[in-house]
Amino acid sequence: MLAGLSDTPSGRKVRVLLASLCLVSGLAHAQHPVLDARLLEIREINRYVPPRALGELRKIEAEARAAPVRTKADFLVQLCLALRGLNQVPEALAAAEELIAFGRETRDNVVIAKGLLTKAYVVSRMDQLALSHQLAWEGEKIANTTGDMVLRVQAAITSGQAYAEDGNFPAAMGKMQTALTLARQHGEPIPKVQALNSLAILYGQLNEHDKGFEALEEATALAEQTNSPGRLATLKDTEYGLAVDTNQPQRGLRALLAGLEYERRIGAEAMIAGTLVNLSDSYLKQHDYARTLSYGNQALRAGRRLNDDSTVATAHLNLGQAHLGLGSLSEGKRHFELGLAWYEKVGDKPELQEVLMEYGAALERAGDMAGAVKAYHRERALSNELFEKRRQKATLELQEKYDTEKKQRQIELLSRENQLKTTEIDNRRLQQRVWWLLAVVFALAALVVGILYRKVRHANAQLKVKNLELKQQSSRDPLTGLYNRRHFQEFMRSHLQVEKRGAGTSGEEIVGALFLLDVDHFKHVNDSHGHAAGDAVLKTIADSLREILRETDMIVRWGGEEFLAFLPAIPRSGVEEIARRLLSGISQQRIDYQDKALSVNVSIGFAPFPLIPGTNALPWERAVNLVDMALYLAKAHGRNRAYGVRGFANFEQTTMEHIEQDLERAWGAGYVDMSIVLGAAQEPKNPAAPPKLTIV
Ligand code: GH3
Ligand code: MG
Ligand code: MG
Repeated sequence: MLAGLSDTPSGRKVRVLLASLCLVSGLAHAQHPVLDARLLEIREINRYVPPRALGELRKIEAEARAAPVRTKADFLVQLCLALRGLNQVPEALAAAEELIAFGRETRDNVVIAKGLLTKAYVVSRMDQLALSHQLAWEGEKIANTTGDMVLRVQAAITSGQAYAEDGNFPAAMGKMQTALTLARQHGEPIPKVQALNSLAILYGQLNEHDKGFEALEEATALAEQTNSPGRLATLKDTEYGLAVDTNQPQRGLRALLAGLEYERRIGAEAMIAGTLVNLSDSYLKQHDYARTLSYGNQALRAGRRLNDDSTVATAHLNLGQAHLGLGSLSEGKRHFELGLAWYEKVGDKPELQEVLMEYGAALERAGDMAGAVKAYHRERALSNELFEKRRQKATLELQEKYDTEKKQRQIELLSRENQLKTTEIDNRRLQQRVWWLLAVVFALAALVVGILYRKVRHANAQLKVKNLELKQQSSRDPLTGLYNRRHFQEFMRSHLQVEKRGAGTSGEEIVGALFLLDVDHFKHVNDSHGHAAGDAVLKTIADSLREILRETDMIVRWGGEEFLAFLPAIPRSGVEEIARRLLSGISQQRIDYQDKALSVNVSIGFAPFPLIPGTNALPWERAVNLVDMALYLAKAHGRNRAYGVRGFANFEQTTMEHIEQDLERAWGAGYVDMSIVLGAAQEPKNPAAPPKLTIV
């Protein structure tokens, strides 16, 4: 119970008043200096003499309710605590509710926190411990959102007391330490005294009495500086508790008597009542029944005056023990039953159980065996009930623990599974990335290969064209576009099979034929009209040759102004006709060059091909040579004419070499048959015309 009951190892439950909290903001928040100062004074009175405090509060009530938020809030805190001190619990509760509502309305966390803590103290008085603890913890949480250090110290202490009552001592210790740290930071002595006192009590509960005394010593030194009998009285009360716990009854008594002295000095009636109960208890333990009765009766009166049922009940128990000790059985039993009735009403069963045990023992000592047995049975029944409850609680706790562990295991399993899945997903992602990368690399490689392939194809195509061009260039004469001599030589070497052509459709023999042409007096054209004119003439002759001859005929630029035509297939009788057409065709051609019309004649040597002097055909080189010799004859015999070798006669009487040495002589000797074709407008004039000359 906050600011409520505390255990003593004597087994007697005595009301110990803990340091009630002041809950007044520091002056930093002062908003109504006069009223705030007044409320600080009232706070000190309220702590020890609530009735006087209430009177003072009523005097300033109207003004305080109209004051600024924090001032009004502090007024409500003090009003609530005064009412609580006077055991006017419903009124105190109403004041606490009003304070909370006011805090929420003004959205002021300092006020809300004070409201919740104040309500926690009131509810604690109503023995609703769980609710009281909840309020304390909630109040602390909200207090911690504020910068009000005094409030935070008190909130931490209250929260610590709630934990201690709840049996959670580690948490309680944490809160008390926090309170002390905050108080030391704040520097004011009062919060430090409060924190140290609470810590001392907690150490006592934890059986760490040395530390408890130590804290108490520091608290006492600080309290002496404040010159406050109330605070010193509170500390004496704590000292009493610790002294009892450490089995120092004399020290306990001294503390109580000193405390009573302080309390009487300020008229702190509630505290006096508590101290009186404790004094009766102490003397009871020393079997000083007279003093027990004296202090017990005083306590009873004080408790009744204060409407403090708890004090009254405890006083009754002490009086009962004393009377039984003195042998007055009925008086003793009456007091005991009155005390027990209150414990039963409150429902504090563990306390009740202990009281019943003491009751039974006292009755036994007093010789009332029947009463002792009865008390013993009541105690046993209660014990069984408590045992059952504890067992159930333990089962529940075990179940809860098991469930929690199970859940924890499941969570761990899930988290492990999760980790596994995450790793798997990561792996898959990595794999995907690798594949993507590979795909990109392949795509790029394919692109590069494609580009290269296209380039190579393009280059190959260009190479083909170039090669073709080159081939053409190497086989063609650049000026006339006709085949060159090299091409003709290659052609003759690779293609031509020297053979007889056989007969044509008319039964006539089909032969090949060679014509070698040389421009007459070409030098003259060059000399008179320039080299370019000569070129133009050569080109025109080439055109004429292409016109006169067929596509299948091979026309070759043989030398400077010499042309060779190879006709692969013509009737033997048509050879001279071709020569005639060549002579006239070329000489008829008019060449326009720089406003001049030029014309040229040609001389021609020709022969059918192949030429077969005996049994063997002549190789093409020798045939061409023979044709060249015929051309020479044409030149020699007047130009603009064609001399052709038609065939050989009496070849067995001569040799080819002989003929080749001098064609004209061989012709004259009748070994060679020749024909002459004259150009246009020319009479055959051959001074050395041999007898077998044939003029066509
Ligand atoms: P002939 O009737 O005896 O053949 O007399 P010609 O003047 O034709 O004598 P020749 O055959 O000795 O001279 C040929 C000349 O042709 C010599 C050369 O300057 C000229 N010639 C050779 N090739 C070319 C060429 O491509 N262009 C030009 N313009 N002249 C050429
Ligand atoms: Mg020539
Ligand atoms: Mg010439």
